[in-house]
Amino acid sequence: MKLELVKDGRNRYRLKRTGKMAVEGIVYANEYLLPLIRKDKSLQQLANAASLPGVVGHVCGMPDIHEGFGLPIGGVMATARDGVISAGAVGMDINCGVRLLATNVSAADLSIPFLRKILTRMEEYVPAGVGRRGKHDFITAGVFEEVVHTGIKSLITRGCGRPDDLEKTEEGGCLPGADLGAVSPQACKRGAVQLGTLGGGNHFIELQVVKQVYDQAAGQSFGLYPGQLTVMIHTGSRGFGHQICNDYSKTLLAAARKHAIEVPDRGLACAPVDSKEGRDYYAAMACAVNFAFANRQLITHDVRRALGDIFACAQDELGLALVYDVAHNIAKWEAHSGSKVLVHRKGATRALPPGHPENPSIYRQTGHPVLIPGSMGTASYVLTGTEKASEAFFSANHGAGRVLSRTAAMKEITREQFERSMSSVLYNSRNYRELLDEAPGAYKDIDHVVETLAAIGMTRKVARLEPLAVIKG
Ligand code: 5GP
Ligand code: MN
Ligand code: MN
Repeated sequence: MKLELVKDGRNRYRLKRTGKMAVEGIVYANEYLLPLIRKDKSLQQLANAASLPGVVGHVCGMPDIHEGFGLPIGGVMATARDGVISAGAVGMDINCGVRLLATNVSAADLSIPFLRKILTRMEEYVPAGVGRRGKHDFITAGVFEEVVHTGIKSLITRGCGRPDDLEKTEEGGCLPGADLGAVSPQACKRGAVQLGTLGGGNHFIELQVVKQVYDQAAGQSFGLYPGQLTVMIHTGSRGFGHQICNDYSKTLLAAARKHAIEVPDRGLACAPVDSKEGRDYYAAMACAVNFAFANRQLITHDVRRALGDIFACAQDELGLALVYDVAHNIAKWEAHSGSKVLVHRKGATRALPPGHPENPSIYRQTGHPVLIPGSMGTASYVLTGTEKASEAFFSANHGAGRVLSRTAAMKEITREQFERSMSSVLYNSRNYRELLDEAPGAYKDIDHVVETLAAIGMTRKVARLEPLAVIKG
């Protein structure tokens, strides 16, 4: 299938219909990003997604798009009620997402040894790395079951959070429709012991400083101002979501066969939304979504504790309000152009415009914060959505996106390049080699990625954050 990408205005390209594509694709990129996007299979993967039954509008490729399993990372696909649901279009790490906490501490006052102390205490409280177990004894099987059905509320009522954390989390920290009955015992076994853990690789807790506020009104509403210390948390549903994705990739492949759906790629295995398999996957996915919101909530609780300890004061005195929590691997029913559609966002962030009724009331006027991590050596951003993003189902990119695979990064990036790119940012004291696959050089240029959508008015920049110290999973 020959793919044709046609420029259609600034930073916007149409992926023309060809072969079995039911809808067109739209790809957002500038001149720097476009050649990177053409290097891997992401355009073909977008075209594949455009051929699935019931896909509506456009399939969209965000400026951080890169090849993934099934749908590319940085991809958005919406399906109608008579369409399909696909696990590969949500991603392995169901509800991987980002949280931002605002402190009232001036970052300039913090010495390097003091930052190091904070990192050490956070590492004590939050287990990091693949396969690590959580440290909170109160997470019994019963609490785990409550968490996956009711989300972060169950933790806040147990003292692990503040009441206003609820409305500052996408979906109020609980996606309805979760049913543990649809989840395998193996997934439960992995999940029950991992709440409150960071996980491996790309997941992180980062201390940052607000370098610039571009939009005073939104900055004020989000509680962000220059010089302030912030904490960004990036993690997801750990082994629980991973196992659910694995389990259902098989179930959905068989279901596609049963329902005579032509699957262009195993990674896009899917079932009708309204079939038993489709409903089961949704119910299981919602469990993982709620688990991930709760995971970030419990880590938030531990981060607040660690900062309270090291500053030797009450946590409230440090501010530590949640700015927002966004999911970037999820499928959700949303109203767009008057119809309910199932928006699959894989490596894409919801970005509602100001005034949209689904914004939490405190952020109704500005639009909720859109949190975009860059890399451990470069900036991250806080944005808001705009009406212009309606063709992308009100979505934006979710990060910078990889430019080098893990293996390529480990081979190609030298120690000198790594150290230069980290400049004075502290990181958890492991051998630098273990961090090479996550080196800033493994990611696209975040400024280009963010500017691509901002320049065409699809997002508005609110704040730029720079890293001071990072715990990598
Ligand atoms: P993903 O969820 O696709 O693995 O990663 C999301 C994004 O996080 C990546 O595209 C990358 O831009 C960003 N990222 C990865 N590691 C770090 C980090 O240590 N710090 C920050 N601020 N961003 C990171
Ligand atoms: Mn993840
Ligand atoms: Mn992620």
